[in-house]
Amino acid sequence: MSDAKAPLPPTAVASGATVSEAAAGAILTIDLGAIRENYRRLKARLAGVRCAGVLKADGYGLGAAQVASALIKDGCDIFFVALLGEGIALRKALGPGRDIFVLNGLPPGSEPEAIAAGLHPVINSVAQLKAWRQAARAIGRKLPAAIQVDSGMSRLGMPPAELEALAKDAFDGIDIRFVMSHLACADEPRNPANEAQRLAFERLRGMLPKAAASLANSSGIFLGAPYHYDLARPGAALYGINPTPGEPNPMLPVVRLQAKVAQTRGVEEGAGIGYGHTFHARGSLRLATISFGYADGWHRRAASAAWFEGVRLPFVGRVSMDSIIVDISALPAGRLSEGDLVELIGPSQSVDDAAAHAGTIGYEVLASLGARFHRRYVGV
Ligand SMILES: *Cc1c(COP(=O)(O)O)cnc(C)c1O
Repeated sequence: MSDAKAPLPPTAVASGATVSEAAAGAILTIDLGAIRENYRRLKARLAGVRCAGVLKADGYGLGAAQVASALIKDGCDIFFVALLGEGIALRKALGPGRDIFVLNGLPPGSEPEAIAAGLHPVINSVAQLKAWRQAARAIGRKLPAAIQVDSGMSRLGMPPAELEALAKDAFDGIDIRFVMSHLACADEPRNPANEAQRLAFERLRGMLPKAAASLANSSGIFLGAPYHYDLARPGAALYGINPTPGEPNPMLPVVRLQAKVAQTRGVEEGAGIGYGHTFHARGSLRLATISFGYADGWHRRAASAAWFEGVRLPFVGRVSMDSIIVDISALPAGRLSEGDLVELIGPSQSVDDAAAHAGTIGYEVLASLGARFHRRYVGV
């Protein structure tokens, strides 16, 4: 049994911490210049409307502190995270002075921690409203917050019935910075749910004290000016994910992910490949095993491929925890050797392509990216 007084081991890899390029099994390159250009492109579309940066899940896996510092250079001064813990970490990294909102609201009892870190809750329920009002009374000053209403996604925010039942003094002590809501189907511009949610949002915010309004995420910005209100809240588009699926991507790519070849081999027809022998060679094959696996955020069952100099190298067999076997028979013999890098995300395969092959969305691919990569920030 462990001694309760023994010192705890050092915490795991912190955001932005990185192993050396030589030591790492895979290299993640994050182009902060491209993130800034994407922010400027969104701002140009917003024609004067303010634009926040959404940094939940450590900036969609890319490093919330690094992304925020880059966006600040283009005048971004409002950030959204999902959880209080993310907000506390971001506040530590940025210091005082920028507005940081916590989308999921504050867990009961955590209000003092939010106040100490200068974080603003997104208030999603009457209980959260009451707790924030009491916190304001306890410290004797007004406290900022955003109020979220549920305009039809049924996820977070006050439902219409709760809004109707609010007392006149419900917002005493609260400085309402924004009334906001979130779109469920913004990436489907022809879905009538978008207009239904916008109209519901109009009606619901009319039941609240007059305040600035915010509705659009990345795809919402592309639904047009009626969706822009006073503040847009893009995440995905900043990181190069296409906010207009089915149309050309108006954003710059941001991420490059490359994995190292750990070993190469030739196998004969009939060889069983990987765990469970889910694949057998249908002829003699040349294979490379790369140092990248499901522990790095790639789904175990994902059928997919890596690329090398524009040549597609299909995964064969199952994805392992720390390795994937790829078929390199399409390359000239000896072209790829130990230590060479193959591409998983980059010019040959966008985040959205990689996600489509894995049966998921770009958001999940980025948010799943693991902690073992050598992280290289460029375009600073
Ligand atoms: C995640 C999120 C966003 C950003 O959405 P993207 O589609 O990544 O632009 C905006 N608002 C809320 C409430 C969110 O949860």
